[in-house]
Amino acid sequence: MIDRMREVFTAIQAWIFEAAVQPVMFSLGLMAYAEDAYEGLGMAMVGVIEIAVLVALFKPLEAWRPVEQWAEKRAVRTDVIYTWLNRLGVLPLAIFLLLVIPVNELEIWLRMHGIVRPNIEDVMPWIERNSIGAFLIYLLLLDFVEYWVHRGQHQLNWWWALHSLHHSQRQMTFWADDRNHLLDDVITSAAVAVAALIIGVPSGQFFLIIIAGRMIESLSHANARVSFGWLGERLLVSPKFHRAHHAIGVGHEGAYRGCNFAVLFPLWDIVFRTANFQSAYEPTGIRDQLQGRDYGIGFWRQQWLGLVRLKASFRGAS
Ligand SMILES: [Zn+2]
Ligand SMILES: [Zn+2]
Repeated sequence: MIDRMREVFTAIQAWIFEAAVQPVMFSLGLMAYAEDAYEGLGMAMVGVIEIAVLVALFKPLEAWRPVEQWAEKRAVRTDVIYTWLNRLGVLPLAIFLLLVIPVNELEIWLRMHGIVRPNIEDVMPWIERNSIGAFLIYLLLLDFVEYWVHRGQHQLNWWWALHSLHHSQRQMTFWADDRNHLLDDVITSAAVAVAALIIGVPSGQFFLIIIAGRMIESLSHANARVSFGWLGERLLVSPKFHRAHHAIGVGHEGAYRGCNFAVLFPLWDIVFRTANFQSAYEPTGIRDQLQGRDYGIGFWRQQWLGLVRLKASFRGAS
């Protein structure tokens, strides 16, 4: 069954590539990059399947147990744009082009200085590379990195100036996951890519980790009264857990400027004492929105206002 699906996928990929991508690349003299473009097309196709799965699973979930209901849905439509840009690979492609050279340079530098990248089986010889155990350990390690990146996004004023865009959604749905400032996307992707390189995540597994992560992250933003139960809430980030992170006041104030920073595993919030299992389905957003601060509703306005806040943050304003 899986083999058959893979065959169909590859056939469609080859057909689109020959019919649409190759002629364009040929006429632009870019055939040297044909192999990369072929892989990129595969990524974009996976993105389309992912969005279909998200809609098929999470739309009914949101209809079944909604936390909130709104008549006006313009704010949600902007989030749909972010999701398409991200999953079709337009943003990842731009980021990849920005990052591929510096990351390659770093790899060469590490090798020249005799720094050998660790392998999971060197540290834990009982674990086989490419096994499920190795996959889970890489997933856990990258999630640890993302936890601290997220702490930085809240703690540092300039970074919060960008990340607050993600928090400014007051109509949160499963589409909200990719709602980020483009500059923030570049910075966080760079941090995670460099961490993956240093930890030594095999590239095939990195791709799987990204997809598995994206599915869970979309679910955690769903406008749904869904909790995973006492134990489940502590094992995997749920819609209830992540909603506390988006709750007005709760998710961006206090000693740590927020709570529930973990992306996939609440373990990190438990270990570093930032977990909040009490907060239950509160309204989402940022407190200054209640005083009328505008974060924008359309895509370009949101991006522009993020830069305005960034500039102000360098002058000491919040
Ligand atoms: Zn946050
Ligand atoms: Zn979020």
